[in-house]
Formats: sequence, C-alpha cells, structure tokens
Amino acid sequence: ATEPTEQASRERERLEELRRLIDHHNYRYHVLDDPEVSDAEYDLLVQELRELEARHPEWVTPDSPTQRVGAPPAQGFVPVAHRIPLLSLDNAYRSEELAAWEARLERALGRRPSGYVAELKIDGLAVALTYQEGLLVRGATRGDGRTGEDVTTNLRTIRAIPLRLRRPVSLEVRGEVYMVRSAFEALNAHRERAGEPLFANPRNAAAGSVRQLDPSITAGRPLSIFLYTLSAVEGREQPETHWESLALMRELGLRTNPHVRRCASLDEVLSYVAYWGEHRHEVDYETDGIVVKVDRLDEQERLGATSHAPRWAIAYKFPAEQAVTRVQDIQVNV
Ligand code: NAD
Repeated sequence: ATEPTEQASRERERLEELRRLIDHHNYRYHVLDDPEVSDAEYDLLVQELRELEARHPEWVTPDSPTQRVGAPPAQGFVPVAHRIPLLSLDNAYRSEELAAWEARLERALGRRPSGYVAELKIDGLAVALTYQEGLLVRGATRGDGRTGEDVTTNLRTIRAIPLRLRRPVSLEVRGEVYMVRSAFEALNAHRERAGEPLFANPRNAAAGSVRQLDPSITAGRPLSIFLYTLSAVEGREQPETHWESLALMRELGLRTNPHVRRCASLDEVLSYVAYWGEHRHEVDYETDGIVVKVDRLDEQERLGATSHAPRWAIAYKFPAEQAVTRVQDIQVNV
C-alpha cells in the first residue's frame, strides 16, 4: 500500500526537476538566443512533463512551463502589451493525434470543421506588426505571449516588411522573421573568421539579430519575413476564412509563404504533410512541420484558445525532427 505513495513522490520530484530544466532552457532559448540542447531534446522534456501533469492534474499550476509561452521581455527593450495574445501551438507527431484533434473539434462545434488550411511551419522568431492607416507603427516580439518587446526600429530595417501597405488600412498581422540557410552559413563563417561566437541555427541567428539594442546590427543581417495571421483588421474588408485573409495580406503587400494548401479533409492534410516530409529541404529556410488551421474564422472564434495555444490549430512536426534520444541520456547542467 505504500508503493503508490512512493511512486507519487518520485513523480513529484521528477516534475519539479523537469520544470526547473524547462525554465532554464526557455531562458537560454527565448532570452539569450543561445540554446544548450536541441529542440528535439527540449520537446522530450516538455512531453514528459505533460504526461506527468496529465496523470496528476492537481499538480498543474499556472506557472508551469506547459501553461506558458516563451519568456518575458528582456531588459533593455520597451515592453509591449499585446491586445490579442500571441500564443504557441499544440503539437502532433502522428496521424492518430491529428484525428484525435479533429474529434475534439467536432465535439466542440457539433460537427466537423468545414475545412482546413495546411501551411509550412517556419522556424524563426514570431513578431506582430501593427499598421495604422497603412503605415507601420509598431513591431513587437511575441515575448511571453501577453507582453513582447518593442523592436520597431529593428524590424524597419527588414526590406520584406513594407513600411506602407498598398491601401491605407489599419490592421495587425503576425509572422515569422527568419534567415535563409545560405545567409546563415555565410554569417557564421564570417563570425568564425572574426573569432565571434557562432549561432546554433538559423532560428537563433534570426532571433538574435532582431533582438539587438543597436538597430544598425540588425540592418546588416540578411533577414526576411513570412506573415501568416491577420489577427485584426479594421473597416469593411472582413475576411471570412483564413484562406481569404492570406489573400488579403498579399494584396496589401505583406509577404506570405507560397506553400499553403486549402484542404477539405484531414486526408488531404496528411498527404500535404507527407509531401513536405520528403521535400522540406528544397526550400532555403528551416521548417519543422506543417501548421493545420481550421479555415473558417467564425469556427476559430467558437473554438477559442487555452492559456498557451489556440484550439483551432495544431503543428504536425516532421518525423525527422522527432527526438531519438531518451531524456535520461541527456546531459544538462543547470
Ligand atoms: P512552436 O515554435 O512549436 O510553435 C508555435 C509558433 O510557431 C508560433 O508562435 C509561431 O511563431 C510559429 N509559426 C511558424 N509558422 C507558422 C504558421 N505558418 N502559422 C502559425 N504559426 C507559425 O512553439 P513555441 O512556443 O514558439 O516554442 C517551442 C519551440 O521552441 C519548440 O520547437 C521547441 O523545441 C523550441 N525551444 C527549444 C529550446 C531549446 O533549448 N532547444 C527551448 C525552448 C523552446
């Protein structure tokens, strides 16, 4: 009879340890842009914590890393409160998990969603851009989802970000700042010659470049952007679907990723996932999966979000990105 208690206390200890480790890696990744472990290794820790919390819901606290997004703004930047939070995404690794997601949507909506949009998940730095009457007035990082960092001057140096839209509309868009692989390799080669520390991957190079206190450093870095969400738009142009909002963004001069597909069913989504699992290295930027979104915006609104992710979207991670190491094998110094 003492056994369950012993097991519970072991699990409790592991839970505390996982939270410490994950907080530490979040800080390295989101604040310092200098991770110590691979994303796959990090994801395993999070997965283990989620499993423990699923077994012991009474242990879930609002400050658990599973309930949060990113990290608070770093010192030196002016904090920006996001009117609409910038959340993370839930992950799926197998087709059954996508099917389970659809079953949850069906329960919540009372019927199957009318359709999906599948798009490449870009591995970069999430930002929100605010335009007022067509003019770029603010750019902010995601931060912890509620509060980000004001990086307007830095983002203004990225040529793919229009300073003025093609029509004088007021809106907010979200997207991912990234660095193409070839530019990342050239940048690291240059840093190596200069005896400077190297970036771990293009994502960290992009994030480190945007989160500079001196915009002239950002200006010298080869950055680009793909916008993927129209989070608010004022006026008469109200899209009814995500697909239409992507078209509207393009019309306004905002750069979107060409690799998107409107899917009537989950089977179509899965064939798109399979295609990109094979072809992902043919694009010159890092992508770690396919984001699947419910297409109709009224359905998105009805589904809403949890504290850390929308219910109407899910990230299907490519198999190659999935970890092969077991958590126990990972050496971490905290
Ligand atoms: P995430 O990157 O898995 O997914 C959410 C983000 O995807 C969104 O916020 C958005 O910025 C982005 N995204 C890219 N393309 C998109 C598209 N087409 N549509 C919508 N969103 C799109 O989650 P996260 O909360 O940013 O952070 C977790 C990620 O960071 C994981 O990949 C994790 O491995 C990594 N991480 C690694 C470490 C480490 O130490 N190696 C530490 C912390 C986090």
